[in-house]
Amino acid sequence: MTHSTDPQTGLSSLILSSQEEKLQSADWAEIWSNMRCPGLSPTEQSFLFKMVYGLLPTKSKLLRFSIEENDQCFFCNEKDDKDHFLSCTQASSMGEATRSILTEISPYKKEVSWQQICSLELHLPPVQRLPALILISELGLEIQNTRTKKKKLTPGILTSKLRFRAEVVGGSRKYQDAKFELISWIENQLNTQDPATERVAALDDGSGVAVATSQDSE
Ligand SMILES: [Zn+2]
Repeated sequence: MTHSTDPQTGLSSLILSSQEEKLQSADWAEIWSNMRCPGLSPTEQSFLFKMVYGLLPTKSKLLRFSIEENDQCFFCNEKDDKDHFLSCTQASSMGEATRSILTEISPYKKEVSWQQICSLELHLPPVQRLPALILISELGLEIQNTRTKKKKLTPGILTSKLRFRAEVVGGSRKYQDAKFELISWIENQLNTQDPATERVAALDDGSGVAVATSQDSE
C-alpha cells in the first residue's frame, strides 16, 4: 500500500502508510476489499475510506489542526474520536442497532466492537457483506450530514434513505439478496417508528422522568 493513491479520493500514500503502521496487525486485504465492495456507490466507498483512515472531521481530528479548541463531543461531552462517531447519542440509537445487526451476522458469535466496525475488520458472510457495508456507510453519511447541522440523526430519514438504496441496488439482478437483506433489517432491527413514545412508556413510573426524556429526544 506504500505507493498507492486512492483513485476516488486522490489521497496520497503518506496517509495510508502511517495509518497502516498503526494497524499493523489489521487484515488489510479484507479491509480493502470491503472498501471497494462491488455494489457500493462511489459516495459510500469514499465514506468508508475516510472512516477506515481516520479522516472524518471529528473534534479530536480538528483539534490536531487547531480548528477546534477541545475534543469534547458537541452532543454528549465525551471524547469525540473515530470510534465515537457511530456510537454517540447523536446517532439516535441507529449506531447501536447497526452494531447489533453486525453482531448477529458475525461468524464469531460475539459482540462486534466499534473499533472493528470503524476499521471494517468484520469478516462478513458473503451474502450479507454488501448490505452491511451499505448500512454502515449510509449510517455514517447521515451522521456526517446531521452533525454538520448540529442536529441529532432522525431514524426515519435514515431508514428512508436505506430503503431507497435497497431499491437502487435491487435494480441489478445479482444484488437481489442484498436488497431483501437490507429491507428486512429496516423493517425489523432498525424499525423505531416512534422511539420517543417507546422510551416514555418504558420509563413512565409516575416520577416525571418520562417527561424529561420525551423533551430530551426532540
Ligand atoms: Zn457524542
